[in-house]
Amino acid sequence: MQKRCLNCDWAIHSVEATQREEQSRETIEHFTETGHTIVTMPEPINPGVPS
Ligand SMILES: [Zn+2]
Repeated sequence: MQKRCLNCDWAIHSVEATQREEQSRETIEHFTETGHTIVTMPEPINPGVPS
């Protein structure tokens, strides 16, 4: 799962080190700071991009 902003490039990827509560907190922070719309994506945006 991944959370992504519809208004800018902000996104949270499912990282093992990132706890679910932490993701929710950062999502709320981004929303309150920018008023942007954040959606939950079932899959990564760029699954084929190498790191
Ligand atoms: Zn945003």
